[in-house]
Amino acid sequence: MVLVAALSGVLGLAIGSFLNVVIHRVPAGLSVVRPRSACPTCRSPIRSRDNVPVVSWLALGGRCRDCRTPISIRYPLVETSTGLLFAIVTVWVFRGVVEGLTAPISAVLQIAALLYVAAISVALTMIDLDTHRLPDAVVLPSYPILIVLLAVSSASGGDWGALGRGLIGMVGLASIYLLAAIVVPGGMGMGDVKLAGIIGLVLAYLGWGPLAVGSFAAFQLGGTFAIVLVTLRRTDRKGGIPFGPWMVSGAWVGVFFGTGLWNAYLALIGLA
Ligand SMILES: [Zn+2]
Repeated sequence: MVLVAALSGVLGLAIGSFLNVVIHRVPAGLSVVRPRSACPTCRSPIRSRDNVPVVSWLALGGRCRDCRTPISIRYPLVETSTGLLFAIVTVWVFRGVVEGLTAPISAVLQIAALLYVAAISVALTMIDLDTHRLPDAVVLPSYPILIVLLAVSSASGGDWGALGRGLIGMVGLASIYLLAAIVVPGGMGMGDVKLAGIIGLVLAYLGWGPLAVGSFAAFQLGGTFAIVLVTLRRTDRKGGIPFGPWMVSGAWVGVFFGTGLWNAYLALIGLA
């Protein structure tokens, strides 16, 4: 288990390094493959040995090897967050296999789907904070990718109910966000609506508990943060905060704690 977590974490560091490129280039409409990464100040290409996630940043003391311009701590932080999320997700799904709840092949596909969601979570959070946008280039391909991964997982485990539930969650959560976007103009954007479908799909696939808790947690977290900002007078009420990061954070609360919190809630109101 420790070995699997470590391997997944290292994979996460490498993917995080790629996400840094996605975060900077996708909003600008640039290719994520070419050209090679270069220092934004002196334009020197980044050498391969200086491109090792986190380690290179530390070895270089957070500065460009050529012009000594400071390199933002964002780069190693994005890599570290992705690595940690990858390790946690893998251990979490694997626990289900060890406890006999999830079939191994089904688990591998679920890990693939959740690691994909982890990667776009990090990318979309940073891009939304930077630009207040959730680019179609990241969100839209996620629909076919995740539907295929989850469908194959359902097929291997014979659990078609989960896929049906996921598709209902996808349409349901996107519809709620679309309604919110229409009723409160200037609140939700269409980017949020499109992301809501992805989150609804994945959460409902895992269960109704994760869907309920995950979608509610987004508003809890985002609302609390907005109140804190207004109280501290860091923003006026019309200033608007990007909601994508809260949708994503809420979704992960739903993934990890949804089933437990939902069952506790049902017990509390006497339904279970
Ligand atoms: Zn430089």
